[in-house]
Amino acid sequence: MEIRAIQGDITKQTDVEAIVNAANESLLGGGGVDGAIHYAAGPELLKECRTLGGCKIGEAKITGAYNLPCKYIIHTVGPRWHGGNNRESELLTLCYKSCLEVAMQHGIRTIAFPSLSTGAFGYPVEQANLVAVGAVYGFVEEYPDQFDLIEWVCFDKNTLKYYSNQIELHKSGFYEEIDPVSKEPELIALLSEHNPEVHRSTDDGYSIIIKDGDEEHMYVDYNDGKFTLGLGCWHNHYNLYRKDYENLLKDIENILNNSFVAVTIRCNGEWFGSWKMSVSECSKKELIIEARKMMRKELIEKAKKYGYQIECEFLDKSKDLIYTIDPEI
Ligand code: ADP
Repeated sequence: MEIRAIQGDITKQTDVEAIVNAANESLLGGGGVDGAIHYAAGPELLKECRTLGGCKIGEAKITGAYNLPCKYIIHTVGPRWHGGNNRESELLTLCYKSCLEVAMQHGIRTIAFPSLSTGAFGYPVEQANLVAVGAVYGFVEEYPDQFDLIEWVCFDKNTLKYYSNQIELHKSGFYEEIDPVSKEPELIALLSEHNPEVHRSTDDGYSIIIKDGDEEHMYVDYNDGKFTLGLGCWHNHYNLYRKDYENLLKDIENILNNSFVAVTIRCNGEWFGSWKMSVSECSKKELIIEARKMMRKELIEKAKKYGYQIECEFLDKSKDLIYTIDPEI
């Protein structure tokens, strides 16, 4: 079973039984890869397409391939890009799934996709490749041994670069689940110079705490199916995928090197929100810009009305700064 991306013209592929067409709802032809496929397959394809009654976004329909070197064409309609909050990724995932389902039903074991939706439909390829490659890997995990080859035939170098990089990441195990228990010694070793305190719970959970004098400075723990890293009032959760675990390690390193700090906003002494910032961005001006993004209108109104102080605490061991933010500005 191979998953890969190559550069080429999908109408010329001789190594697959089926190619996928990035069609539109009418299934009566269009521009881009759709135009190229109809042109290369010949007018008989349009005749067959007329009998199909169109196709909805996310669905897939199969036809013969006529003058093309493959046996079948699977037509699907990708989502048009409307900014990313209109179910685009869900619908694009559905396209890949529907095509692979139809292929499976016809005993097709080798299939080529174009980069669905990233042409006239405007889906940014930087995002489409993540969805596309994730969808295909998700499908083959659910239905192993059903395909011998799934490939993207990318028209241009730039598109090819995105798909091949993403496939490489999947192959390298970047998206595989990790075993959190086996990571405990590694985390302790990483923190060994800082006198880590380790606490274990009755299940597999553990907490590793770094103290600054008597006070807790930083902690990392594994509990309830996720890792958590905490620094002052700031904390962040990480899922059990290698990519998330690598981010956790990076964040720990950054804390240890003092290259990021936790920032907390308080209003009249009460916690309002925390986030992390890289030290290089941490000018007073940047802090205030970030703090303003976090402050809801009500908080500012309240501060003005009751004369509450809004404080922005910048938890940096070397500086220990607290700025007071004027709600009027
Ligand atoms: P959509 O309408 O789904 O965005 P397009 O056909 O406009 O579909 O574009 C999808 C992708 O297909 C684009 O990356 C485009 O460059 C590419 N493409 C166009 N012609 C071909 C072809 N003959 N073979 C492979 N890819 C192609």
